Amino acid sequence: MATIFTRIAAGEIPSYKVAENEDYYAFLDINPLAKGHTLVIPKKVEDDYIFNLDPAVYEGLWQFARKVAVALKAAVPCKRVGVAVLGMEVPHTHIHLVPLQTEADLDFRKEHPVFTPEQQAETAAAILAEYEKL
Ligand code: 5GP
Repeated sequence: MATIFTRIAAGEIPSYKVAENEDYYAFLDINPLAKGHTLVIPKKVEDDYIFNLDPAVYEGLWQFARKVAVALKAAVPCKRVGVAVLGMEVPHTHIHLVPLQTEADLDFRKEHPVFTPEQQAETAAAILAEYEKL
């Protein structure tokens, strides 16, 4: 069964792509906690619980997420990139990468900032440009 994230990775549903390789895909969260809030997913694996992943896929996902986080920090100035794994909403394993100025930036219950499509496109392009330098 294809999840919404499988369809995003396949390009069937639009997203603001920030990085991609053969097996993994990273894109901006549609309801970001902060500028540059990124989701990192395996393209094919659809288990909704990260600790159920095949160990090789799990390792590959974190390796890819590390690279994306380096690119994200270069593109979006922040104290550090925070990490969260929830999976309460979308049943397809994903890692949240959130640029942090303060620990409150990782509070999913707070009021989320709003960015225009142009701002989201610009942020995604900046992260992708940094990713391609790595
Ligand atoms: P979680 O499953 O980790 O609790 O939350 C799912 C996350 O995915 C949320 O932060 C939500 O804003 C994001 N999200 C849900 N649907 C879409 C979508 O169609 N596109 C994008 N870019 N993000 C989504």
